[in-house]
This record gives sequence, structure tokens and C-alpha cells, in this order.
Amino acid sequence: MEVCGTHTHEIFKLGIRNILPDTIDLISGPGCPVCVTPIDFIDEAVMLALEKGCTITTFGDLVRVPGTKLSLAQARARGAKVKVVYSPLDGVEYAKKHQDEQVVFLSIGFETTTPSDVLTIKEAKNLTNFSLLTANKTMPMAYEAMKDSCDAFLYPGHVHAIIGTKICEELRDKDGVSGVVAGFTASELLTAIAIIVKKVQQGKPFFVNAYPRVVKSEGSKKAQDIIKTYMEPCDASWRGIGKIAHSGLQLKEAYKAYDARKVYDLPVIKGKDNPACRCGEVLRGACKPYDCPVFGKGCTPDHPIGACMVSSEGTCSAYYLYGGLK
Ligand code: SF4
Repeated sequence: MEVCGTHTHEIFKLGIRNILPDTIDLISGPGCPVCVTPIDFIDEAVMLALEKGCTITTFGDLVRVPGTKLSLAQARARGAKVKVVYSPLDGVEYAKKHQDEQVVFLSIGFETTTPSDVLTIKEAKNLTNFSLLTANKTMPMAYEAMKDSCDAFLYPGHVHAIIGTKICEELRDKDGVSGVVAGFTASELLTAIAIIVKKVQQGKPFFVNAYPRVVKSEGSKKAQDIIKTYMEPCDASWRGIGKIAHSGLQLKEAYKAYDARKVYDLPVIKGKDNPACRCGEVLRGACKPYDCPVFGKGCTPDHPIGACMVSSEGTCSAYYLYGGLK
């Protein structure tokens, strides 16, 4: 299972699927941050924009993800202020220049992007009009939850550049979970897959770091420290998987002035996914995008029904862009 959406897209783009025999099934997993963010989060962002009058700053993918009733793009069409930014700090800059607006940055993603999200708090220390709506996630507990879904994980190189590889060794030793940390070039991906094929046949749990030029066993202490300064573990909901204990990050009490849920007293929202969408199963590797009846028909990148078709890292968009309609 390639856990990372970037791996999924690179594997398609490089034509690697076309040269593998039928005996090797590459399953796409829950590694796209936009895709695993539950619909409740989109509903919260829409509420902040339409009912609380906030200006939402966000990366572009999230704008088109359907909410229970509206996406942020549809909210914008009804007058909401939704600004696409290219970095979290752009959100702070916007807040500095528009002090008459209440600005919220949508903070999602894994260990790779969380440090830059929370560093906005440092930058915004003299502002009272900037906060974060968070749904940041961490991978280790997701590996646990997904451990029976494949023979081996193709672990995401950029996540492990931050968190290191101790978790992979623990999963191997305690739970018999196998995997290889992979980079993103053709030779790095093929090397990782070749290692998996060889090791799986040996029949023993294994772990190999096949991206040593970037991933070190201790990870990035600096990035880990930034996360620990501002955030603490919490339970988190993953689209398609459900709640996974200690798989999320929330702002510490000391930073509640930057926590949009607290600042705007948001109620707990329970969103409702479109029943036609099988994103949940796609994200668990339980079905392929082709198995979804609306894939490439009602659901395309121009008219997405689910998050996996919206995101540039989504599995359905990878299958649509590179895999053909079958
Ligand atoms: Fe959801 Fe569209 Fe993928 Fe079907 S094709 S699972 S509706 S994103």
C-alpha cells in the first residue's frame, strides 16, 4: 500500500503500474491530507465563513471539497470570503493587511506540513484577528489501524524525514508490520518495490529505509520540537476509517487564542457524506476508484463528488488523470 498521495501520483505518472506483473497489486492508502479530512471540517469552515463572517485562507484543493450542503467554493458564491494562499504565512500576511477582518487559516496535513502551519502563531503574535481551524494528523496510529490491509507499506519519505524510522521498526517488531520507506524518483520507487517483492517472499516481517539520503532514523528534531511546542496529541476522525485514538494534533491550551473552534465557539458538527461516494473504501484500500459507480461519469476532477477526486494527491484523481476510465 502506498500510503502517500504523492507516491500514488508519481507511480502513475512514471508508468510504473504498467510494467508490474498482475501479481503485484499497488493499493492506494490514506495519505492524502485533503482526502482524509472529514466532511465535518468542511462544514465547520463553511460555518465560519458564512455564519461567523470570517475570511477563510486555505490551499486551493480544500475549496472544492464538497461539504454536507456546500463546498467553500459554493459558500464563496454566496458571499463568503475565501482566499486561496500558497503558504500558511500568506494567511498571516493577509491578516496583517486586513485587520478589520477575522482571518482563519485551514490547517490540515501530516507531520510534513504541520510545523509550517503552527509557526503562523509565532508570526501572528501581535494580531488578534488570526486563528487556525485545525485537523492535523499523524501517521503512526493510522499505520496501526491499517496494518491488515496489505502485505507491506510503501512508507512516505517526507513524513519519515520528520518523524524518523523508529515507528517502522516498532511496527515490525511488535505487530509484524512490514514496509519500506521510499523516495519519489523512478529509481527510488522501483528500488523500494523490488525490496518489498523480495522480502515478502522471504516470509518474515521487515523494514528497510530505502530513502537514506533524506530520511534519518531520528528524523528532524527541529520540526518535531516545533510541533511539540504548539500542539498535543488528540483523537482524530479520518474519512473512511473513522476515529483513531491519538492520531491527530490539536493546539495546546496556551494557544487557545489562535484556535478558531474556541475563538468562535463552534458547535460539534456531524457532517453527512454523499452516499454515492466510495472515498472511504478507496482510502482504506478496500476498493479501487474504478469500482465506484460514478467514477469518470458523475465524478470527475472538474465536477468532483468526493474529496479523492478533488485533491491533487487524491487516488481517484490519479486514476482519472493517468489510469484511463477502464
Ligand atoms: Fe468518491 Fe468520486 Fe472517488 Fe467515487 S470516484 S469514490 S464519488 S471521489
